[in-house]
Amino acid sequence: MTQDDLNFDQRHIWHPYTSMTAPLPVYPVVAARGCELELASGVQLVDGMSSWWAAIHGYNHPRLNAAMTEQISQMSHVMFGGITHPSAVALCRRLVSMTPESLECVFLADSGSVAVEVAMKMALQYWQAKGEPRQRFLTFRNGYHGDTFGAMSVCDPDNSMHSLWKGYLPENLFAPAPQSRFDGEWDEMDMVPFARLMAAHRSEIAAVIVEPIVQGAGGMRMYHPEWLRRLRKMCDREGILLIADEIATGFGRTGKLFACEHAGITPDILCLGKALTGGTMTLSATLTTRAVAETISNGEAGCFMHGPTFMGNPLACAVAAESLALLEEGHWQEQVAAIEAQLKRELAEARISPQVADVRILGAIGVVETHAPVNMARLQKFFVEHGVWIRPFGKLIYLMPPYIIRPEQLTRLTDAVKAALSDNTLFTS
Ligand code: PLP
Repeated sequence: MTQDDLNFDQRHIWHPYTSMTAPLPVYPVVAARGCELELASGVQLVDGMSSWWAAIHGYNHPRLNAAMTEQISQMSHVMFGGITHPSAVALCRRLVSMTPESLECVFLADSGSVAVEVAMKMALQYWQAKGEPRQRFLTFRNGYHGDTFGAMSVCDPDNSMHSLWKGYLPENLFAPAPQSRFDGEWDEMDMVPFARLMAAHRSEIAAVIVEPIVQGAGGMRMYHPEWLRRLRKMCDREGILLIADEIATGFGRTGKLFACEHAGITPDILCLGKALTGGTMTLSATLTTRAVAETISNGEAGCFMHGPTFMGNPLACAVAAESLALLEEGHWQEQVAAIEAQLKRELAEARISPQVADVRILGAIGVVETHAPVNMARLQKFFVEHGVWIRPFGKLIYLMPPYIIRPEQLTRLTDAVKAALSDNTLFTS
């Protein structure tokens, strides 16, 4: 890529959450293999992000590539209305068999945010069909569920700037974020505000929606599994649906195949995305029970009211089916356990840095929360100069590497994080 390409990029192309007048620098990547990104300059960076938590098997995986090549030779895309194809069936068979037994009806959509829209629509249509329309969702603060309007309406109101969309965004119900930590004691008092909100609005709430165990982009917080057991019980008692957004946590990231397994619960609706295709293509899935699907289907609309152009895209389904086949071989379990043990060993000393407020580790997720927000542009440059790709935000420097990362590569990531913590110029004062 030339300097001219980069100038064009800065002037004309929006990147995630950036300004057109003061864009942050972008780094040109020309190839990615295994656990490394190659910059246009030829420099190789060890990847600590899995491209926003998706590339669990690493980049350029021969089996994922072969699955895509094979599918391209048949057809890259065909509409899903009135048509089906082998890759969608193969993928959905795997999804139905690897998720809890009661989740047996699959809706394939384009991205994580759309999977959440679909889940919310399912809940709304479910109540509509029962003849008791309900319009509100109950969730935690500090959540993140995507950037489309429905999804945003259940994201943390401050982080996703609900004030900007006032009057347009549905007003949902927010309980305080869980305080009982994953690795701490369960505090019964944690439940009180949530239980009160549910009781006060019991006949308006269509569903509770949460990210199980790990609240991702809303703060990288890890909470006690007892929370999920209580949510399941409260929802059952009130007949309210429970939506688990496992878009970030699904497919092994927390050390269990799905984070709900830490609590042994099954949601009524499950959202999957990100790692579904091993980080190669955009695809998501929303699964629900036969009871919810039948109720919706017997309602006034007579069908579920959603059907995107690229629904069930064969290329994405083929690679997703192969990614799940790789997962089913089971190596992820030892890989994630080894990453967790190494992160615990190597990030332990970060706790003593005066910059650090907290260190949290679960599965293949390592989080260092700092007291002051990072200077994003400076810290990003620092990491690139140290040969690693780590994208911090706010007060959070975190690692979510591909599961195939080698110990010495992971050490490069943790060393870079610790080096950054000793440089005060990388933090805003
Ligand atoms: N839900 C969760 C828990 C997420 O972490 C994300 C993305 O980070 C989304 C939904 C939205 O997914 P996408 O970015 O694919 O729309």
